Amino acid sequence: MTEGREEYIKAGKIASTVREKVRGMDLAGKTALEICDMVESDIRNMGARCAFPTNVSINEVAAHYTAEPDDELVIGQDDTVKVDMGAHVDGYIADTAVTVNADPGHAEITDTAEEALAKAMSVVHSGAKTRDIGKAIEGVIKRNSCKPIANLTGHSLGRYTIHAGKSIPNTWAIRSSNLGEGEAYACEPFVTTKDGMGFVRDGKTKNIFALVSRKNTKNDDANRMLAYIWENFNALPFARRWLAEWEPGKAAELLDVLVKSKAVHAYAVLVEGAGKRVAQAEHTFIVEDSGITITTAA
Ligand code: MN
Ligand code: MN
Repeated sequence: MTEGREEYIKAGKIASTVREKVRGMDLAGKTALEICDMVESDIRNMGARCAFPTNVSINEVAAHYTAEPDDELVIGQDDTVKVDMGAHVDGYIADTAVTVNADPGHAEITDTAEEALAKAMSVVHSGAKTRDIGKAIEGVIKRNSCKPIANLTGHSLGRYTIHAGKSIPNTWAIRSSNLGEGEAYACEPFVTTKDGMGFVRDGKTKNIFALVSRKNTKNDDANRMLAYIWENFNALPFARRWLAEWEPGKAAELLDVLVKSKAVHAYAVLVEGAGKRVAQAEHTFIVEDSGITITTAA
């Protein structure tokens, strides 16, 4: 029996409801900030908390972009938009993503990410080798003449922990582990076009953060922010938008102190190596003796 099973299922139901709403939306003309605010208020209104800031990553940005407090970034008509959202109930996380793009000229990578995720969900079971799941994902992607992003992976989930130690690769991999009964995982194929590099690198922007140490600094104001972060987000990721108790300039300044003192880690956006478009699909599932339960199934 999975510890927190009911909570995982409740969080999954909420996250998948929001994901399906986003899937049906025309995002062109909306700002990244409007999308983040909508997803996050929906998650809260349905009775969960946000497990991480909503990622709204456009085209060659594969992951880790979230809106700043005053963000004016607008979604374009032919943009490929990954919306990756997280809900948690008492620390038990649902992590799920959808790619939205209105332009049929770029549908191939989006459809392939969904097909690869469906294939992966059909082969996972207790005891499955993560490298075999990666091989199945890679097989679908290559048959469709696309390329997997080899250095982005799915991951095991723990209570208040997004990366709990095991990975589910998107390719066959030398390193492998076995899925264990009672464990929770996110599986997330990332797909680029055949002329992509198939790897992501760090970009310049950093707007997702997480607490890594509760050790105080010499700055009392920064220490108050550190206490606030622990109390409200635990060690889960957060955005500057979520520090609304401080005016934006002050929040940025104190956060900078915390990043420099290594109390807080700042995550860089991840950009496709050859600058090509990336699509993503993601589900969370728990491994049970009778099979798996996809907590974020539609
Ligand atoms: Mn995700
Ligand atoms: Mn994930």
